[in-house]
Amino acid sequence: MFLVKRAGGRITQPYVGGVITIHVRGQQNSECLPPWPPCPPPIPPPILPSCPPSPTVYPPFYCCPRSKYDVKFIYINDTPPKTGFRDFVDRASQTLFWTELIRGFAVTLSHIFCEPATINYPFEKGPLSPRFRGEHALRRYPSGEERCIACKLCEALCPAQAITIESEQREDGSRRAVRYDIDLNKCIFCGYCQEACPVDAIVEGPNFEYSTFTREELFYNKEKLLTNGDRWEPEIASNIRDNHLYR
Ligand code: SF4
Repeated sequence: MFLVKRAGGRITQPYVGGVITIHVRGQQNSECLPPWPPCPPPIPPPILPSCPPSPTVYPPFYCCPRSKYDVKFIYINDTPPKTGFRDFVDRASQTLFWTELIRGFAVTLSHIFCEPATINYPFEKGPLSPRFRGEHALRRYPSGEERCIACKLCEALCPAQAITIESEQREDGSRRAVRYDIDLNKCIFCGYCQEACPVDAIVEGPNFEYSTFTREELFYNKEKLLTNGDRWEPEIASNIRDNHLYR
């Protein structure tokens, strides 16, 4: 009699005679161990309800008007053409009598009398917002005195570090800027300098036509900025007055 030990380590039963078989974990000996129970039948996957058909998706321009500028457009081909006999005869007669051509000419002729959508720049210019931020300018008081008091708030606030100011004290004790430089190559036209100025001295005027051929021409000094201010003062004052609605 031998003691048969399973590979799992536990002594199971005495065995008399015959071939000693060591039962290794994971194997099955039909002589000394009962057969493994049969595997249960596989569980069928659940039957899910079928998805509803996806709705017809139109490109965005077939949707509702997206802005107030869209409402006057007439969209074409937003529905497929009909295929009935009457529609076929309609289309055939239109092709035969060139009605599309005549209607196209009619549209062209009708637009002759409409106001054109384009402007003849630079002789015509579109409207500008009073909040438009264009070329910089330094303003004066009506007496001709410079507004800038060289507080350097704009220089401190400028995120592009485009402003350089140097100041000195006058004989009457007032402080004025002797140097006011702006590097428009660096400027990002954020308008912070204009917002920071306590006396509305530095502003971004309505002029946007100051393109240059060289970078050096975009280094503005105090004289250039004051000249801009003198030139654009009526428009700048009007824009500042209109801008109070947004504050
Ligand atoms: S607009 Fe902005 S970036 Fe330009 S100078 Fe003024 S603060 Fe600096």
